[in-house]
Amino acid sequence: MIIGYWIISLRTMMSTSNANIQTAKSATTFKDVAGLDEEREQFEEVVQFLRNPKKYEEMGAKIPKGILLNGEPGTGKTLLAKAIAGEAGVPFFQMSGSDFEEKFVGVGASKVRKLFAKAKNVAPAIIFIDEIDAVAQSRYGGRTYSEQTLNQLLTEMDGFSSSDSVIVIAATNRIDVLDPALLRPGRFDRHIFISKPDIIARKEILKIHARNKKLTADISLDEIAQKTVGFSGADLANILNEAAIYAVNQGKQYIDNTDISEAIARVLVGLEKKNVSVSEEDKKLTATHEAGHAIVSAVLRPTVKNFGISIVQRGNAGGYNYFDEPDAKYSRKEELKKQIAVLYGGRAAEEIILGDISSGASNDLERASKIVK
Ligand code: ADP
Repeated sequence: MIIGYWIISLRTMMSTSNANIQTAKSATTFKDVAGLDEEREQFEEVVQFLRNPKKYEEMGAKIPKGILLNGEPGTGKTLLAKAIAGEAGVPFFQMSGSDFEEKFVGVGASKVRKLFAKAKNVAPAIIFIDEIDAVAQSRYGGRTYSEQTLNQLLTEMDGFSSSDSVIVIAATNRIDVLDPALLRPGRFDRHIFISKPDIIARKEILKIHARNKKLTADISLDEIAQKTVGFSGADLANILNEAAIYAVNQGKQYIDNTDISEAIARVLVGLEKKNVSVSEEDKKLTATHEAGHAIVSAVLRPTVKNFGISIVQRGNAGGYNYFDEPDAKYSRKEELKKQIAVLYGGRAAEEIILGDISSGASNDLERASKIVK
C-alpha cells in the first residue's frame, strides 16, 4: 500500500508539474522598459536572431544560448526578458528556480526536461528561469538534493544546438553562489548586470507607470525621482499604484502630492499605524531621537536636504527622517563616516537629552555596523 501510494503521488506530481510551466505570448515590449538602454542594446541582437534565426545560421554565427541577468529584486529582469519575447514575437516560458524544488528526487529534473521539450516544440522561444540560484547553487556547497535538477539543466543546454533557437534567460541576485559549471561557455556565458535605477532612469520608469494614472498638474516626476534614491523599478511602480489606491480611498478624482508622499512613506517604511496608542513618554523619546538624526545631518552634511521628519508610527519604525541622499556610484570614506554619525545621532540625542538610551536605536546601530563592515 505504501509503495502504491508513493507511486500514485509521484505520478500526480509528474503530471501536475506541467501546470507550473507558464507560457504566453508576451505583450510587453521595450517601450515598457525604462532606463536600461545599454542592456537593451545587447538584447536587440537576440531579438533579431529570434526573428530570423536562418540568417544567422547561414552566416555561421553562434548566438548565445544562455543569458544571465544579475541584479537585485525588482530591477526589471523579468520585464526585460518578457520584452525580448514580445519584441521578437516568440513564446515565453517562465519558471522559477524554486518551482523545481521537490520532495522527490528526480521530479525537478523531469520538470526541466518537460520545459525544454515544450520550448523546442514551438521554437524560436524564450525560457525564463527566475531565481536560478535555487537550483544552481554550487554543488560544492553541500546541497545535493537539487544536483539532479542542475545536471539536467546543463544537459539540456549542452544538448540543443543554436539552430534550436531556444534562448534561456536566467535571473539571480546571487551570482556568487552559482555553480561555476553553469557559467561556462555554451551555457550562461553572457552576464548582464542590472543595476538599480539612477535619477534619470527613475524618472523614466515613473513616466511609464504614470501613463494610465490621473495626476494633478502640480505633480513633478522629477521631484519624486529625486526623493527615491535607492528605490528599484518595482518600488517606483508600487509608489504610483499605492498613491492611486490612497487617492481613491480619500474619494479624490486625481492623485495629488499628498497621495504621493503617503505612498513613498508606505513603500519606504510601511503603512501608517493610526490606531496604535503611543504613550507621551514614547512620543517624546521618538521625537528626541529623530531630532538627533536631523541635527547631526544638518551640521555634518548641510547640502543633504531633509524633506520631512515624522514620529507617526509606520511599519516597524517609530519615526523617521527623509533625507534626500544623492545618488553616488562610489562611497567615500568621509561620506560614510558622516552617515554613521547621522545614524548614531538618534542614540546620542537620547543619551544627552533624556539621560538614558533605548532599544529604539537598534536598527540604526545595525545599519551603522553594516557600513563600518
Ligand atoms: P525582477 O525580475 O528584477 O525582480 P521585475 O521585472 O519583476 O523585477 O519588476 C517588477 C515590476 O517593476 C515590473 O513589472 C515593472 O512594473 C516594474 N519595473 C521594474 N523595473 C522597471 C523598468 N526598468 N522600467 C519599467 N518598469 C519597471
